[in-house]
Amino acid sequence: MDTLRRIAVPPQKLFVEGAWQDGSGTPLAVTSPIDGSELTTLQGASEADVARAVAAARRAFDDGRWSRAAPAQRKKVLHAIADRIEAEALELAVLGVRDNGTELAMALKAEPGSAAGTFRYYAEALDKVAGEIAPTAPDVLGLVHRMPVGVVGAIVPWNFPLMIGAWKLAPALAMGNSVVLKPAETASLSLLRLAQICAECGLPDGVLNVVTGSGAETGNALAHSMDVDVLAFTGSGPTGRRLLEASARSNLKRVYLELGGKSPNIVFADAPDLAHAAKVSAMGIFRNSGQVCVAGSRLLVERSIHDEFVALLQREAEALRVGDPLAAGTQIGAVNSEAQMARNLSFMAGAEAEGGEIVTGGGRILEHTGGTYMAPTLVTGVRPEAALFREEVFGPVLAVTPFDTEAEALALANATDFGLASAVWTSNLSRAHRMVAGIRAGLVHVNTYGGADNTVPLGGVGQSGNGHDKSLHALEKYVDLKTAWIQL
Ligand code: NAD
Repeated sequence: MDTLRRIAVPPQKLFVEGAWQDGSGTPLAVTSPIDGSELTTLQGASEADVARAVAAARRAFDDGRWSRAAPAQRKKVLHAIADRIEAEALELAVLGVRDNGTELAMALKAEPGSAAGTFRYYAEALDKVAGEIAPTAPDVLGLVHRMPVGVVGAIVPWNFPLMIGAWKLAPALAMGNSVVLKPAETASLSLLRLAQICAECGLPDGVLNVVTGSGAETGNALAHSMDVDVLAFTGSGPTGRRLLEASARSNLKRVYLELGGKSPNIVFADAPDLAHAAKVSAMGIFRNSGQVCVAGSRLLVERSIHDEFVALLQREAEALRVGDPLAAGTQIGAVNSEAQMARNLSFMAGAEAEGGEIVTGGGRILEHTGGTYMAPTLVTGVRPEAALFREEVFGPVLAVTPFDTEAEALALANATDFGLASAVWTSNLSRAHRMVAGIRAGLVHVNTYGGADNTVPLGGVGQSGNGHDKSLHALEKYVDLKTAWIQL
C-alpha cells in the first residue's frame, strides 16, 4: 500500500502545445480525501492561459496536423494510447484514487480499464463512419460530408475523471478535432498524465491541451471562449445552466450536457431473486460512495415485500467494508471532499424532519483517519415531496418509497426533473417492456443495475441533460455536416 502511495505524480502544470507551461491563475491546493493530507498544488489557468490553449488547439486544427491526418494514422495513435493506458493501468488508477478517493478495485476497472476500451472503440470506429450520397435528381450529385467541428472544449467532473475524460476525448480526437480539456479541481492528476501519454504516443502538439484550475476561473473562461466550437460537459445541473448562458453570451458554441440523476430502482414482488436484487441494488447506490451519475438512489419497492427487501438491503449495506481506498479488501472508499461530505450530511438532517427513518448509516465514520468517509445509508418512508426523493445527493444514501401498483410505480419513477438511469426488477416480461417504454430516462436496466459498455449510448433526458457519450452516436457531437451540391 505504501508503494502505491509513492507513485510519482505528473508535473502539476498546464499542458499546452505539447509542453508543460506555467499558469498565471489562482493555484489550487489538492487535499487527499483518504486522510486529509495536502497532496499537491495545481497550477490554475487564467483567462489568458485558456486563450493560449485554445489558440494552440486552433493552430493545430487549421494546419491539418491531425484534422487532415489519414484515418489509418489517427487509428494507430488512438490504439497506441489505449495500449499505454493498459500498460500503466495501476499507476493511472492510483493517481485518480489519491485525489478522488474511489476504491482501487473499482477505479482499476472503471478508470484505466474503461478509458483504454473507449480509446480502442473509437480507434476502430473512425474509419467506418462514411459520408453519404443523397438521393437527388439525376442531374445533381449531393454529397454529405462529416467534418470535424474544430476546437472542442471538454469540462469533466471528479467522480471518474479518466473514464469520463476518455468519453469526450476519444470520439472528439477520432473525428480529427483538437481539444482543450478542463479537469475537476479535485481530480486532475490522472488526466494530466493522460495528456503526457497521448503526446508520447504520437498525438501531435496542440491537439490535446489540459488546463487545470477552478470552475469559476478556468472553466468559465473556456465556456466563454469565442474560438471553442463545441463544449462537452459532464457535471452538475447548476454548472450546466451557466455553460448554456456562456454559449449565449459568447459565440453560440454547441453545448452538450451530461448532468445528474435521481434514478429509480424499482423492485416488484415478482422479482426473480430478491436476495440477488438486494446485493446488486446495494452496489448500484453505494459503489464509489454513491458518487456515480447513474446511481440508483431511489428504491421504489412493492409494499408486499417492502420489509423483507429493506432487511436484505440493510444486511448488504452493513456488510460493506468502507475505508482507505488503497487498502486491500476495501469495497467503498472515501467521499471526494469535505464539501461533498457536508452536502451529504445536510440531506440527513432534512430526511428525518420530512418523515423519513434512517434505518442504517446516516453519518460520517472513520474520523480518526482524517479522511472523508460516510456509512452506507438507508432511509425509508421517503415521500415524493421530500428533498431526498427529488434532489441528487451524490452520496451513499438510498431513499426508499413503497408502491402498490405498476401504475403508481411508473408515476413515482417519473416524478422528478431528472431522467438519467433506472432499473426494473420483475419476472414478468410484458411488465418489463411496459416499464422500459414508460420510464422517462436514457437508460433502463432490467433485472440488474449498472451494466454498460462502449457499444451503447449513455445520456439523459429532462434535467439530466442532452447528447450522449459512448457508442457511435457520440461521434455525431464532434462533427458538422457539410453538403456539396454538384450540378452535373
Ligand atoms: P460541477 O458541475 O461542480 O463540476 C464539474 C466541472 O465543471 C468541474 O471541472 C468544474 O470545475 C467545472 N465548473 C464548475 N463551475 C464552472 C463554471 N462556472 N464554468 C465552467 N466550468 C465550471 O460538478 P461536480 O461536483 O464536479 O460533479 C458532480 C456532478 O456531476 C453530479 O451532479 C453528477 O451527477 C454529475 N455527473 C454526471 C454524469 C453523467 O454522465 N450524466 C457523470 C458523472 C457526474
